[in-house]
Amino acid sequence: MPSTPEFQQTLGKIAGFTGTALHTGENVTLRLHPAPVDHGIKFRRKDLQDEPTIDAKIENLKTVERATTIGEGSVRVHTVEHVLAALSAMGVDNAIVEMDANEPPIGDGSAQAYADLIRKAGVVAQEEPRKFFDARDTMHVESKTGALLVLLPDDKFRISCTQAGPNNKFTQFLSIEVTPAAFEREIAPARTFVYYEDVKPLMDKNLIKGGSLENAIVVRGEAVLSKEPLRFPDEFVRHKILDIIGDLALVGRRIRGHVIAVKPGHASNADLSRLIAREQTRRSALAVSRPIPSGDGGLDTDQVMQILPHRFPFLMVDRIISFDTDTKCVGVKTVTINEPFFQGHFPGHPVMPGVMQVEAMAQVASILLFKLAKTTSRIGYFMSADEVKFRKPVLPGDTIFIHAELIKSRGERLAKAKCHCVVNDAIVSEAELMFTFLDK
Ligand SMILES: [Zn+2]
Repeated sequence: MPSTPEFQQTLGKIAGFTGTALHTGENVTLRLHPAPVDHGIKFRRKDLQDEPTIDAKIENLKTVERATTIGEGSVRVHTVEHVLAALSAMGVDNAIVEMDANEPPIGDGSAQAYADLIRKAGVVAQEEPRKFFDARDTMHVESKTGALLVLLPDDKFRISCTQAGPNNKFTQFLSIEVTPAAFEREIAPARTFVYYEDVKPLMDKNLIKGGSLENAIVVRGEAVLSKEPLRFPDEFVRHKILDIIGDLALVGRRIRGHVIAVKPGHASNADLSRLIAREQTRRSALAVSRPIPSGDGGLDTDQVMQILPHRFPFLMVDRIISFDTDTKCVGVKTVTINEPFFQGHFPGHPVMPGVMQVEAMAQVASILLFKLAKTTSRIGYFMSADEVKFRKPVLPGDTIFIHAELIKSRGERLAKAKCHCVVNDAIVSEAELMFTFLDK
């Protein structure tokens, strides 16, 4: 493992180009913008009202047929994998991908145009260290279609891929360490390939108006049709590796591990991303539920009560033990047998009501929101709770670590937070909470 920390990187300046969108056949302009530390990669739809953004995160994955589509609410962006692969492999952690349509220009079906654009914009170091996902134990996903992806521990990001076509035609293998130089030279130029039988129905339905031999290699039987000759004898497996890099970028962290992929596709790539992201969430939850630290970085009970209007018996957070980059914080609540709700819930069998845990999550999330708004002249009202799950009972004597992360803040009036409660290193409850602000 490297002893010196690696720093996050963004683009040196804005750079863009215009090309054809694969599905609509219309012109689209894509511009890459620099972004601050811990921002990650976000897509921005400049053609829509209020220019909504979508986080390039696996939670936002919508579909994986032929290409990777992400979305939030009703907003979608399609075919994100090639531009994500170029950003990730060339070392860009933080950027905005702005487009005036719902998909990037397809270019020649490879990541070459994006790699060129990133080189034109330049890549610059930022002040915060990078966040990594280190593969520890072997993880794997397997699909009914025969795709198999295994992630093994490694101190580098490596991919070893076997691709095989119908009846094992065009079977190719390549193993590579993913570095910016190797990506630009070996992977970025590899074009998409499609089987004629698969695209014929789409062409007939006019669903790929921008598709042509200029932006894909078409395989028909034994024949390989393309505008220019193959760029590598094993161009297909190289493109498969390109797609893996792009789909794994949805983890939102740099991976240190060795991916062994057999007949991979977007669906199995996305499954592995999801598995890694879930493991990361579990590790993060464990990493912070340590003995309560003293000193600054959090809020004591007095400071909590200056922000929250709640009082006994309804104040469900004792203190805030840490803030992380303004969008995350952890609160703590020690549950004692003296809590009033234990008298009735249930006599002789005290269990903390799940709704009180949701209330605790809402209070911790509110503190985050007030800190962000830097005003206490307004009060946050809890509007809705989604994805609520109670996993384990909370008993007298337990210490609950309440994690809240702001995932969406729409304008000044609405905010969404993802929360979970941890007791003894296990998640006991979780919820997604929506808030609105009103003047006091
Ligand atoms: Zn692809």
